[in-house]
Amino acid sequence: MQCPECQSTHTRKNGKRRGKQNYICVSCGRQFIDSYSPPQGYGEDIKQQCLRLYVNGMGFRAIERVTGVHHTTVIYWVKQVGEHLPDAYKPEAVPQVGELDELETFVGAKKTKSGSGQR
Ligand SMILES: [Zn+2]
Repeated sequence: MQCPECQSTHTRKNGKRRGKQNYICVSCGRQFIDSYSPPQGYGEDIKQQCLRLYVNGMGFRAIERVTGVHHTTVIYWVKQVGEHLPDAYKPEAVPQVGELDELETFVGAKKTKSGSGQR
């Protein structure tokens, strides 16, 4: 099991809650149930498209605009394949959700430079 909070796989079973297996994260203490899963409803093809865009250097927000997939979902997918695919496919750095603001600031700054008539 993977902790939804800190993505650690260092988790332990922690009894049952309402018939569902409860887990506790050893790293951060977060409790969660095994029905926790990423947002569903996207097909494998849209996932592949998002990952391809990401590998080609597109930002998460841009991918969201193009594909309509929420950027947190794209980030989750990137993390997922980063762990399971061979090194060749592995992105150099996978931003944490918490670093997204920084990422947006960077993207925003880039946009302002090329546009908005400030030369
Ligand atoms: Zn955790």
